[in-house]
Amino acid sequence: MQRVNALRPLLPKGTLTFYKDQLLITKGSGQFLWDSAGKKYLDMFGGIVTVSVGHCHPKVNAALKEQSEKLWHTTSIYHTEPIYEYAQALTATFPDPLKVVFFVNSGSEANDLAIALARNHTGRFDMLSMRNGYHGMTQTVLGATNLGTWKPTFPHGFSIYKFMNVDPYKGVWGGAKCRDCPVEIKTRKCDCKEGQCSATSKYIDQFEETLAYDFPAFSGPAGFLVESIQGVGGTVQYPKGFLKRAFEAVKKRGGLCIIDEVQTGFGRLGSHFWGFQTQDATPDIVSMAKGIGNGFPMGAVVTTKEIADSFARSLYFNTFGGNPLASAVGKAVLDVIEEEKLQENCLKVGEYFLKQLAAIDSPFIGDVRGKGLMIGVELIDEEGNPMPAARMANIFEGVKNRGVLIGKGGLQGNTLRIKPPMCIDKKDVDMAVQAIDDAIRKGQ
Ligand code: PMP
Repeated sequence: MQRVNALRPLLPKGTLTFYKDQLLITKGSGQFLWDSAGKKYLDMFGGIVTVSVGHCHPKVNAALKEQSEKLWHTTSIYHTEPIYEYAQALTATFPDPLKVVFFVNSGSEANDLAIALARNHTGRFDMLSMRNGYHGMTQTVLGATNLGTWKPTFPHGFSIYKFMNVDPYKGVWGGAKCRDCPVEIKTRKCDCKEGQCSATSKYIDQFEETLAYDFPAFSGPAGFLVESIQGVGGTVQYPKGFLKRAFEAVKKRGGLCIIDEVQTGFGRLGSHFWGFQTQDATPDIVSMAKGIGNGFPMGAVVTTKEIADSFARSLYFNTFGGNPLASAVGKAVLDVIEEEKLQENCLKVGEYFLKQLAAIDSPFIGDVRGKGLMIGVELIDEEGNPMPAARMANIFEGVKNRGVLIGKGGLQGNTLRIKPPMCIDKKDVDMAVQAIDDAIRKGQ
């Protein structure tokens, strides 16, 4: 605790901290973390999806150690064996024509580059992103991040327009019954006819209108940047068909579609390896980070040869992107996901998790949603309003005190976010659900 207190003044004031008694984490293994007092926690946040295959995974550790003894770094102007192997393995997870990869160092950088690719390829400047979306913190990307809590007051990311909040739970047209989630919403009905989501059509009408009114009629958008499922925004899933139809509308006007898979990629959603595949949407550019390296700082952008080639009008250089250590780690992560069938585990355990959460009988749970191991539980008060921050903080602290770490998000911070390492089992789910149920029931 002494150390935690000594660190506080050294960090910027705006740095996010979750708990009244801040955690000092000293050790991790699989889905577990230990603090400096030796207390063990079940990690249901995984460093925000980042610890994809489990803390200190032996195979990933071994790959890192082996590579560190051969070669740490050389300029990316030379090729190395690890980058060659990794580029092959990573691009193999994508359908044609998404076969060219740029290696970067973080999710923000990946999205920054993705926007640059779209602008360069189309020769246009104006972009579109979604309200409640989060894409990172570089000055360009901040323009696409549309949660007021993250917005700086200085000018940033200009010419990035926003589309309305497509939220089946809180948004204007619902659509919750038609989102791709194994549990049904309790509180909000939608008037969808068999197989046809009317909310999707209403959102798409508005989407088309945004493209027509807000972008130059003689050209159009450079691109549309969107998450498969909104992460920081509180695990918000769009009604079925929205993403596919939105992409078609952007492409009709000559824009490029960028899918941000920083949280949703690498099998976490269970049914597919990439989030865009779960929605039958066809992106031109895919950005990824976080779970890509199980905690190693790295990211990537995958696109088509045509788009990548048009970027070669000028040189592209990145000191650390595709560094041998990062490449060795990235390849080991892909191997572990396959060998340990972690995507299948996300599907099976994720569905169980969602059902157990939906079965909690509490007036304070407004919505349970998600897919695979990307889950959100939105809490409300007696009047159905977002659970006030002070009560939310007590519940959140209560879950931690019961030995379970989760996250929270959404504009009002009233959604519990659950995104554990992909290796958790049903026993872990039972423990987490018990802790969440109990903390909500007792209010702390
Ligand atoms: N995109 C999404 C969807 C994210 O959740 C994040 C990080 N929370 C980013 C981009 C930015 O990634 P990074 O923090 O690695 O820059």
